[in-house]
Amino acid sequence: MPETANSAQLLRQRMAAELDELRNEAQFRVLDHPTGVNLCSNDYLGLAHDPRLKGAVEEAVEGAESVGATGSRLLSGNLREWGDLENHFASFAGTEAALYFSSGYAANLGLLSSILKPQDTVFSDALNHASIIDGIRLSGARKVIFPHLDLNFLEKALRDQSAKGAKVIVTESVFSMEGDVAPLQDTLALARQYGAEIIVDEAHATGVWGPQGRGIAAAEENQREMLAVVHACGKALASAGAFVCCERVLKDYLINRARTFIFSTAMPGYLARQIRAALALAREANDRRTHLYSISSWLRKALADLELHFGSSVTQIVPLILGENKLALEIENQLHKSGFAVKAVRPPTVAAGTTRLRLSLTSSIAQEDLARFVAVLNKTLGDCHLSHKFF
Ligand code: PMP
Repeated sequence: MPETANSAQLLRQRMAAELDELRNEAQFRVLDHPTGVNLCSNDYLGLAHDPRLKGAVEEAVEGAESVGATGSRLLSGNLREWGDLENHFASFAGTEAALYFSSGYAANLGLLSSILKPQDTVFSDALNHASIIDGIRLSGARKVIFPHLDLNFLEKALRDQSAKGAKVIVTESVFSMEGDVAPLQDTLALARQYGAEIIVDEAHATGVWGPQGRGIAAAEENQREMLAVVHACGKALASAGAFVCCERVLKDYLINRARTFIFSTAMPGYLARQIRAALALAREANDRRTHLYSISSWLRKALADLELHFGSSVTQIVPLILGENKLALEIENQLHKSGFAVKAVRPPTVAAGTTRLRLSLTSSIAQEDLARFVAVLNKTLGDCHLSHKFF
């Protein structure tokens, strides 16, 4: 008994001390409800509020035989809707097959931790998402982290790599915190030259970039040479989960080896119908995509005119890089008060010293809202007695 009491005390003290440390460093996170013009949403095509999608969900629930999947896909949960949707999604992505996971995190974790072995070497962009990092860690593969988008470094590393196992390059297509885009064509050329495979995470491109929103990889002639392309459903598709799009052999392998697939209850069938409806809407949403591209360029130009830094962004994700946690939180707070929902993204999500307001635009935002935002931002920065040149 005393042993138990000690452990309980130890754990609580340790947690309290760590949380205090986070508070001191302006790193403590709370869950809140940002209101106002939403500049921190990944609902890039505005489908989360679209009555047509809501209607499709209502119909799907209404027509469903059951509302729970009742088990993992390998037990009782293999509802017909999921298999049908996977075939449908594969043709959207331009691959032979697709396998659905209940989140993008689970997809990356399951994929990387199962296919990579300790004798393999994985080449991973330094700014890849946590789910990629964790999947690589779990696999035990050798890793080379190359500086963000630095293909010279990558080439040298590929050339120098003499280990016997497989070589796999992993990259996002649109980077979640930078809003820049990987040079997939050149990366593919390197992969070909050095006998490597490529995995691309399209989470922030799905529905937004490429023909009909089919992703940046789909726009490449050589997409078929890619080992796997991961498409997310929780962002522009306003749903949840993700597909690993790949050859049939990899799909079969994942069904047998990816622990995040095998040991997790399937999602309910109405969600499959929601994703299918969202996909149909997204494919047809050229007007929304055009508007999104246009307001994104407008915002970048407006920030540049104020000499504010947004890194290498060329997409709907526009990071306003502020550097310092306390400053970013203060500005976030002031902007909330003025009716704009923005979020400071701090380390370890981004590198130390690069805390930013991650502005993510959606097609629901009007250019006039952005113009108001930029004016308020400018005033807020002025009120904080900051010279923009410091950023
Ligand atoms: N990959 C990237 C690049 C992401 O940004 C995210 C989500 N932030 C994920 C994967 C994980 O997707 P999900 O939210 O569906 O778990």
